[in-house]
Amino acid sequence: MEEQSGLPNVSIPCHNEQRDKKKRYTVYKVIVNVGQQEWFVFRRYAEFDKLYNTLKKQFPSLNLKIPAKRIFGDNFEPEFIKQRRAGLHEFIKGIVSIPELCNNPDVRSFLLMDKKQNLQNSDASEDEDDKSNSSSRNINLGPSGNPHAKPTDFDFLKVVGKGSFGKVFLAKRKLDAKYYAIKVLQKKVILNRKEQKHIMAERNVLLKNVKHPFLVGLHYSFQTADKLYFVLDFVNGGELFFHLQKERTFVEPRARFYIAEMASALGYLHSLNIVYRDLKPENILLDHEGHIILTDFGLCKEGISQTDTTSTFCGTPEYLAPEVLRKQPYDNTVDWWCLGSVLYEMLFGLPPFYSRDTHEMYDNILHKPLVIRSSASNAAWSLLLGLLEKDGALRLGARDDFNEIKTHTFFSPINWNDLEQKKIPPPFTPNVFTEELVPNSVCWTQDHSIVNASVMEADDAFVGFSYAPPSDDSFL
Ligand code: ADP
Ligand code: MG
Repeated sequence: MEEQSGLPNVSIPCHNEQRDKKKRYTVYKVIVNVGQQEWFVFRRYAEFDKLYNTLKKQFPSLNLKIPAKRIFGDNFEPEFIKQRRAGLHEFIKGIVSIPELCNNPDVRSFLLMDKKQNLQNSDASEDEDDKSNSSSRNINLGPSGNPHAKPTDFDFLKVVGKGSFGKVFLAKRKLDAKYYAIKVLQKKVILNRKEQKHIMAERNVLLKNVKHPFLVGLHYSFQTADKLYFVLDFVNGGELFFHLQKERTFVEPRARFYIAEMASALGYLHSLNIVYRDLKPENILLDHEGHIILTDFGLCKEGISQTDTTSTFCGTPEYLAPEVLRKQPYDNTVDWWCLGSVLYEMLFGLPPFYSRDTHEMYDNILHKPLVIRSSASNAAWSLLLGLLEKDGALRLGARDDFNEIKTHTFFSPINWNDLEQKKIPPPFTPNVFTEELVPNSVCWTQDHSIVNASVMEADDAFVGFSYAPPSDDSFL
């Protein structure tokens, strides 16, 4: 999203979807961004047309344009829908670029801008009416499952992260006004991907009562007909790699502190027979003091994404160990490879074996020796060589797991007891934006925020999801 001195901003996504001709009308998905909040509303042509006519009367001089109604021909012709969508997109884009229109009540209601519950209307909402759906079966959440909890216990304030499984929201519990991060997963997505066992993996983790200073705390979980909700500590110091990107590299003492905290968390998980496997930049957060918090430790991602070469590099690149690339069985030592990768990236600014070309990178990981990119101490280099050993059976940690890491000379300045009691002061304190803690002060367009609206055709899956079609069908 571009920031433009408080002026609203719009982007135009373009899709070429074909409609099912049995449908009686097309619903367009309008994506709206205001500041850091994002939601979507479903509108059909008739509603755009109504807004257009209202605004035309109020602002005759603005010369607003909307695609014309079609009198003859097939409204479901892909080319027609494509053009109409583009026209509607231009229309809404034009509107949000004019502050006067942006603050117009009809526009605001069209875009659901005054409803804080817009987030609930989209992703976080409860759809108990959807019981007929095959996804509405109950999933056993184990002891963390709280049968009395429900989405309306919370105000969902904004999206703080998107992952491969779902969205993470900042939410405020109404009962005690406390802030939490709530991870929301669509059962449908999970069941569709035949990944129910991964939720079971989460449950098994919960059964083990995982609690560690450098792992995100899970308070409880609950479900509705079609979604799972995990109520987590809200971690607000930002992703570690956001800070790394700003500074390009970290000096060794700073990298040592972070790596030690991560190693401690990984050692703890291993002691519970849990392989984290998913250590990658976006899962490493800082808390407000600057301590490491690993997220996402419950949902083991076996069988997806990491070995799927088509999707692996769509988002943040993951640190792929050779055995993972080869689709061989893996064990604890895969986490030590990833830890070595994080250390390497912190010290040199790029992941080990990096190449812009994905296949070349895979080849490097499998076959090329590790390259030092700039100076590093002997201790750091020795640790990197140990952790980034291609043969998992020879890797540092293969024999005695965390103990081998702990006693490596690179960590000789670290007192592990102090570290685990958070007695070592973090080398850096993140700037925690107070806006994140006072979400009611989130600005709307009247002042500093940015509106971003775009129109797409509604994904079939969403039709009827948060949109109740009006009864009149006069503008097909
Ligand atoms: P996924 O399993 O889909 O990868 P994650 O649990 O990694 O989902 O969450 C996705 C993103 O949401 C993370 O990369 C992070 O930026 C953000 N996030 C996750 N958990 C929290 C949390 N407890 N507090 C703040 N942000 C979080
Ligand atoms: Mg993640």
